[in-house]
Amino acid sequence: MLALGAPKDSDSAVIEERCPGCGEVTRWESERMDNGEGWVLHCPECGTETTRFSG
Ligand SMILES: [Zn+2]
Repeated sequence: MLALGAPKDSDSAVIEERCPGCGEVTRWESERMDNGEGWVLHCPECGTETTRFSG
């Protein structure tokens, strides 16, 4: 899915940074954690999964 224009859905975000798994700067796929405390990020290149806590 390609989203052109400003996203209105604040539950999704594009995060671009270097992946520790494959070493590429990649567009992480993000999903909101069920408990709302942060994000689960997946590298589309190598499948590395990491978490990021908000706040
Ligand atoms: Zn990766």
